Amino acid sequence: MKKNNFGLIGKTLDHSISDVLHQEIMKEAGIKGSYGMFEVEPENLEKVIASIRVLNIAGLNVTIPYKQDIMRYLDEIDQKAIEIGAVNTITLKENKAIGTNTDYDGFKLCLDKAGISISKNGFTLLGAGGAAKAVIKVLQDEQASKITLISRNPDKTKLEYPDFEILPYDEIHEIKDKYCLINCTPVGTYPNIEECPIKKEDIKKYSNVVDLIYNPQKTKLLKLADEYGINNINGLYMLIGQAIKAQEIWASKQALDLDDKKPLIDNIYEDIILKFNL
Ligand code: NAP
Repeated sequence: MKKNNFGLIGKTLDHSISDVLHQEIMKEAGIKGSYGMFEVEPENLEKVIASIRVLNIAGLNVTIPYKQDIMRYLDEIDQKAIEIGAVNTITLKENKAIGTNTDYDGFKLCLDKAGISISKNGFTLLGAGGAAKAVIKVLQDEQASKITLISRNPDKTKLEYPDFEILPYDEIHEIKDKYCLINCTPVGTYPNIEECPIKKEDIKKYSNVVDLIYNPQKTKLLKLADEYGINNINGLYMLIGQAIKAQEIWASKQALDLDDKKPLIDNIYEDIILKFNL
């Protein structure tokens, strides 16, 4: 089997676990390849696509802060990534750089693992950044009944969708359908692990809580959800799901089909937790 080279670009990758995660997936799926981590300065972003052609890199993941900026340098972008407005996975195919978004698939896997159903349910999102965009697309595609976004600056938020409301934090209590709360902000991650994005009393009425953060495994928000007996999940399955989907695309096969390979996904999950002591 031909050995393929893959990798990740971002500005600061000190805390990324993507190399170990992809090596784990490739091992489990019998894919022969390497995965490199490439820190790129903003002024060099335009040279990335030429570089991967020269280095014969078959697939690239993209992380903060380049998921939007990279789009202008690609030859093709699929409809899903255009609608989300962000690319996290690039495939080099017949010398063309093609962008897609697999955070979308990762987020679906995360909700599935927590038994959270989307159709006809109301969702509250905290934070209007890049991750929120992929989350919103999933919720819209799967017919959530209502999506409310909570932002520190509702007036400045550029996200605009039909049937979509943006409120400031002090109006969160006005939301009626409290099926699921999703933290799409970095609040609660290292080093500020005692921080919680909303007040205790605003968490209590939700039936489900999702935190896209996976390090620590239990953020303050999820600890409070546990305390109140609320079903909750962190972002590790999302991270694993987006990586598996990227490998599927690069391998041009359903080698790791997210629906049919649940034991394999769980093995990867357990291994990653053990390796990183999450
Ligand atoms: P981002 O674009 O930098 O920011 C997210 C949003 O959070 C911001 O736009 C802002 O929204 C809000 N925010 C930022 N700092 C805040 C603060 N100190 N207090 C309150 N709100 C704040 O980041 P992102 O790419 O969306 O990622 C958000 C989080 O999700 C990160 O922790 C990231 O690691 C995680 N993530 C996880 C996965 C996964 O696979 N599990 C994938 C993607 C992202 P407003 O200005 O509207 O308030």
